[in-house]
Amino acid sequence: MDNYILVTGGAGYIGSHMTLALQAAGERPLVIDDLSAGLRSAVPDGVPLFAGSVGDAAFVGDIMDRYPIAAIIHFAASVVVPESVARPLDYYRNNTANARTLIDCAVQRKVPHLVFSSTAAVYGEPDRTPISEGQSTQPINPYGRSKLMVEWMLDDVARAHPLSYAALRYFNVAGADPDGRAGQSSPNATHLIKIAVQAALGKRDGLDVYGTDYPTADGSCVRDYVHVSDLVAAHIDALRYLRAGNPSVICNIGYANGYSVLDVIEVVKRVSGIDFDVRIKGRRPGDPAALVASNELAKSLLGWRPRHDDLETIVRHALAWERRLP
Ligand code: UDP
Repeated sequence: MDNYILVTGGAGYIGSHMTLALQAAGERPLVIDDLSAGLRSAVPDGVPLFAGSVGDAAFVGDIMDRYPIAAIIHFAASVVVPESVARPLDYYRNNTANARTLIDCAVQRKVPHLVFSSTAAVYGEPDRTPISEGQSTQPINPYGRSKLMVEWMLDDVARAHPLSYAALRYFNVAGADPDGRAGQSSPNATHLIKIAVQAALGKRDGLDVYGTDYPTADGSCVRDYVHVSDLVAAHIDALRYLRAGNPSVICNIGYANGYSVLDVIEVVKRVSGIDFDVRIKGRRPGDPAALVASNELAKSLLGWRPRHDDLETIVRHALAWERRLP
């Protein structure tokens, strides 16, 4: 395979696992990343890295003119729900408007396929769990809206132009490469498992639980935590699916297992063998009570076969990575 797979956000947490998985699959990744959250060191040797924004049409167009692109995997985005509530316009620019520019470049250069990082946040407060893809999309925060608008753009563009896409609605991505080659490196990460392993290792002073008055078994929010290596494997599966000429698709990526915030804390304490302070606080804006995926579609259509469907494994890998960080 001669052409490149363009990975936007390839220096970030998920993107860095993606480039490794692409290399292992015999593909040639090429990374665009504005390095706002990503790190140069997260891009493997030999993988071309272009530092800049996917919202810069001249920059992206120039790269596409020089490197033939077989497909785009678009990760570059802002991903923190409460931040999106506080700074919605940043999310509509970074996640929505910049995606529009990238998709426009892809259409003009006749890139045939695009895999898009969507999110369970498009469902909002779901009426049923596990959530299937046909359920209504009524996001309750700007993050989910900023991503849903990109799904709509892709749907319209795929009808008008020869581009097929897979929108993968990620549930809660966590963990790290089992071989220790990549992980979540941002010191300012806000996601629960990262925060909890930092608390266990004494890198932060305990952990706040944002609400124990939700309509769930223990009152804390329930999420479906998916191992980052299984998540990136779904992208390899989606590429194979699109290249086989199949129609565009929207798929959940999760395990169909829900764990509460308090469950996660218990597992991190048990796996690490370290106790840490846990403070019960009020609700955080924009949080739905429970998000658990149905993953039948990813399994049947894409042939996705999760290999790390186990919260302890996810936590063990996240801890191992956190220990290696300064
Ligand atoms: N959460 C928490 N304390 C933290 C970070 C997160 O209680 O320090 C909760 C958060 O309110 C949500 C769940 O953990 O209910 C997952 O949040 P996260 O930010 O990891 O992912 P999200 O589901 O918002 O994408």
